[in-house]
Amino acid sequence: MSVDKLLSLLHGVKPTGRGRWVSRCPAHEDSRPSLAIRELDDGRVLLHDFAGCPTSDVLAAVGLTLEDLFPERQEGYSGAKERRPWSAIDVLRCVAFEALVVSIAANNVAQGVELPEADRKRLLLAASRLQAATEVCDG
Ligand SMILES: [Zn+2]
Repeated sequence: MSVDKLLSLLHGVKPTGRGRWVSRCPAHEDSRPSLAIRELDDGRVLLHDFAGCPTSDVLAAVGLTLEDLFPERQEGYSGAKERRPWSAIDVLRCVAFEALVVSIAANNVAQGVELPEADRKRLLLAASRLQAATEVCDG
């Protein structure tokens, strides 16, 4: 499958560099682009949803499977693991959004608003996403 086919199935696609894009994730209500897409030189396509959806869920939402991401096996195809597939800016976008979530909650607390259970859970999710962001960058 070409990356162009995948991009045609997604919404809010924006190029972020050579062979790199972001889009809204089709697997959750995504108001800001959290899905990073990367096409490697050997034709493989990598996906990562910084909001945490598994890649298989993202693909299923547009009618694809993991096998669609890999080109036909070619002579010399190494299948080598890409060491640092995500650029710092991809990760920073995720971190910036989670920081916004945390700052809104902090502002509410400062104004004496008691955070409902759902907000407290969202803060825990933000913490786990921020932790995951350090791991994804740590090639
Ligand atoms: Zn998602």
